[in-house]
Order: sequence, then structure tokens, then C-alpha cells
Amino acid sequence: MRVAMTGSTHRTIALLVAAGAGSRAGDGAPKQFRTIGGRAVIAHAFDALVAHPVIDGVVLVIGAGQETAARAALGARSVAAFVEGGATRRDSVRAGLEAIAAVGGASHVLIHDCARPFLSADVIDRLLRALDDAPGAIPVLPVVDTLVRGADDMAGAVVARDGLFRVQTPQAFAFDAILAAHRNWDASQDATDDARMLRACGHDVLLVAGDEALEKLTFPADFERAEARMSQQRTTRTGMGYDVHRLASGEQLWLCGVQIPHEKGLSGHSDADVGIHALVDAILGALAEGDIGSHFPPSDPQWRGVASSRFLDHARDLVVARRGVIEHVDLTLICEAPRIGPHRNAMRSRIAQILALPLDRVSVKATTTERLGFAGRGEGIAAQAIATLSLPALSSVHA
Ligand code: MG
Repeated sequence: MRVAMTGSTHRTIALLVAAGAGSRAGDGAPKQFRTIGGRAVIAHAFDALVAHPVIDGVVLVIGAGQETAARAALGARSVAAFVEGGATRRDSVRAGLEAIAAVGGASHVLIHDCARPFLSADVIDRLLRALDDAPGAIPVLPVVDTLVRGADDMAGAVVARDGLFRVQTPQAFAFDAILAAHRNWDASQDATDDARMLRACGHDVLLVAGDEALEKLTFPADFERAEARMSQQRTTRTGMGYDVHRLASGEQLWLCGVQIPHEKGLSGHSDADVGIHALVDAILGALAEGDIGSHFPPSDPQWRGVASSRFLDHARDLVVARRGVIEHVDLTLICEAPRIGPHRNAMRSRIAQILALPLDRVSVKATTTERLGFAGRGEGIAAQAIATLSLPALSSVHA
């Protein structure tokens, strides 16, 4: 359940602007689809927004023809809406605001440029608190370098930096006020900054402390720096999982999210998908967040018969909430029958789909026990799994 910071009726939507087509970043691909630390730039910004407990949904503004690339970059992440942007940034934001207005119910909006991927919950907290006192708030940093006006490579007058700030995003607004500001803006003028448009309507905009980590990625060197910082600040974790379920007549057989025709099926918790259960435990183990039974108690009737893919969705979401990346999963099914080989690729595909991973990061193997033990006698199926995660070194769960 979402808990609003300032009251129960607030509904806060994030508008993530990712409509850029070109790139000064070097390799020709729009920079929002380049990866840093194994995640697309757009996914970093998306995860930071969606992980914040006050943000109820993320609307994504993309360029014409970019939906396929955006969906691929975001994997299984749940986007409230994809909106096609316009010719200018202002047009793109306007399109996103109109899409939010068409759905209705938004009280606040955070407008964020996806090229600023390293967004902390602290900045979002400061912005949302400021909205209690004004209809607009923006994160800023002081100017520390000496500023000088230049012409023809010659230094001119020094510009006094007192009272000057560098403006970042996200910018936070009362929804109705920023929508009206966009609708009333003189279309003959461009505006790269939404706060300026709000001020043009006579509204106050508060300044809150920004964050150096929120720097905008523009040039190739920015990406190299970001990549270096990500790798320095990340740590690798592994977790293991093991599970057994009994084979019984009259049950369906689900293994790794795939239904397998077989004369018996597995009985037990949920759909008894022993492969997914082991995998969920491996991911929870890497996060050191308990086991599947503590998240989905077998005694709770709501989990009876449900698809185990829901447990894997949950484990994936926990990784995302920790700003982690699942680097690889490896799973072994232990049974005499059925034969796993014919279903192996379907199982890999299903797991890759749920975890939003490329297929080459998902391994499914199988072995028998030479007819020894419970698996060898066909009484049950066992599974073991290992998950390798990359997590921020100073990882913390947002309360
Ligand atoms: Mg189980």
C-alpha cells in the first residue's frame, strides 16, 4: 500500500522524459538506451522513481518509433503509460501531462529527464516536502567555479556567482498548476525548464538541495565516469536455493513456469513449481531477505494454487528496489522423469521473461540420481539454484 507523505488523498505521478533521438554520447544510439552497470540509462531513472514509496506510477515519454527499444530496455518493469513525445522537450512534457490529465486523479507530478539516472530517494523526499509550501520545487546546486564571459576565445568579465544555481531534475509540481502553465505558455517561445513556465503564471518555486550524483549524462566521458563509479560502488552477492516437492497423481506438473505433460504432478505450496521455488530462495538468499516461506507462508490460504511466477515477480521487484541487477541464475532440476531436455529452452525463456534478463543469463540444467533416493524412485522432484546479483555497495532498503 502506498502511503502519501502529506495526506491520504495525494496521488503522485512521475513523468520520465526519454524522448531524445540523437546522441552526443558517442555511439549513435539514443543515450537513454545505453547501459551503465548492466542497466539501461532509462531503467536507472525508472527504478529510482518507482522505488520511492510515495510515487504511484511512472509515465514514460518516448520518441516516435522508440516504444520497442524502450520496452526492451525496461524489461518486465511496469510502466503506467507510454506517451509519444513532440518536437521539443516542452512538447514532450506537455504530451505527458495531457496523458496524465486524461486518466485523472493526479495531485502531484515529478518531471524528470532520464539522462540523470542517479536519483536518490533523499532528493525526491526534499522535493515532495517542499510541495507542502509551494506549487513548485526544483533541486539545485551552487555554482562553485568562477564564471567568466568569453568571446572569440578571449576571457571577458567575471560573472558574479552569488545567487546563481545549477538547476537539476526532477522538478516537482502541483499537477493542476503545471498543466495550466503548459497550456498557457506562449508557443512561439521554447522553454527547457518547467519551473520557469510555472513562475510565468505567478507561482512560487522553491529551491531544494540537489545532488552531485544527479549530473546529466551528455558526452562520452560522462558515461565512462558513470560506468567507473557504478563498478566501484557495486558488490557481487550470490545466493542458493533448494526445494523438494512430492509427485502425486491428479496434480498438474509445473516446472520453471512451464506446464509439462506428465502422468503425475507436484503437490504442495502454490502450484508446487519446485524450480521457481528454488530460484526464489536463491534470489532472496543473495539479498539476505529470508526465504520463500517467510514472504509467502504456506499456511496463508491466499497462496494455495497460485502460479509461482508471482513469487519470482516479487523476488525480482525486491532486487529492483535495492537497485540491484540479477547478473545470472543457474538452476538444476533433479528427477528421473519427465525428461527435461525437450522443455529446457521454454523454461529458460519463461524465467528470462519474468526476470527481464537476456537468455544467456539464465541456465536450466537437469540430472537424475541414477535411480537412487526419492528422486530416483520417482517420489518427488528436487531443484537447486544459484543466483548472482550485483548490488550497490552501500545498499539500503527505502523504509
Ligand atoms: Mg516449495
